Amino acid sequence: MSKPKYKRILLKISGEALGLNGKGVDFPSVTKMAKDIKVIIDMGVEVAIVCGGGNLFRGAPAADAGMDRSAADYMGMLGTVMNGLALQNGLEALGCPTRVQTGLDINRVAEPFICRKAVRHLEKGRTVIFAAGTGNPFFTTDTAAALRASEINAEAVFKATKVDGIYDADPMKFPDAKRYDTISYHECLNKGLEIMDSAAFSLCQNSEIPIVVFNFSEGENLERVVCGDTSIATVVK
Ligand code: UDP
Repeated sequence: MSKPKYKRILLKISGEALGLNGKGVDFPSVTKMAKDIKVIIDMGVEVAIVCGGGNLFRGAPAADAGMDRSAADYMGMLGTVMNGLALQNGLEALGCPTRVQTGLDINRVAEPFICRKAVRHLEKGRTVIFAAGTGNPFFTTDTAAALRASEINAEAVFKATKVDGIYDADPMKFPDAKRYDTISYHECLNKGLEIMDSAAFSLCQNSEIPIVVFNFSEGENLERVVCGDTSIATVVK
């Protein structure tokens, strides 16, 4: 078995990855994801996870349709709590101890976010799932991932996507597009490559936390990237 390159990581999963065709919560998809995550937990990596909520509700489109933006964003954050609980269930069914911590207090279903407690859980081998984003409207779960990664001193943010990294052009339109193994934060900004929203990106840059962009829809990819394989990922650093 290969050796992991990282001791503590923050894995950012979009809500769509937990749904069927990107919608709702699809438990077979959750279980598949939990199995892939278990592999790196079993390698001894401390894993913190931020779940998105786009499979259930997104604030911005609801606001465009006339809803109050803050109310819509709170609904979006509640969606991420549902995803967090589903993922907790998936991981615990495989025997992985987990804790869900939320940015909004919902004490009957999850712990509130307390950084020192989250770190202690990780040290004890528990996977910590951060839900309800930053707890504030007008932000995204990408920003929550960058924020929590900075707070818990994660060595990298692993951004699970549907593509195997960052290209110099859209690989769907340009078959000869070149994939970067590594790229600097500066070059990403200069080339206008959007990996995360700007708040999330600047937080990672300021905290000097590398962002590993990889395709999580194929088995073993998480294990490979955590072991340092950049042939299926791009590392922004
Ligand atoms: N959200 C928010 N504040 C946060 C994180 C999320 O208001 O700190 C809301 C926002 O409405 C967003 C929704 O939660 O649209 C779901 O999060 P996101 O769109 O980031 O999920 P993903 O695209 O990763 O599935």
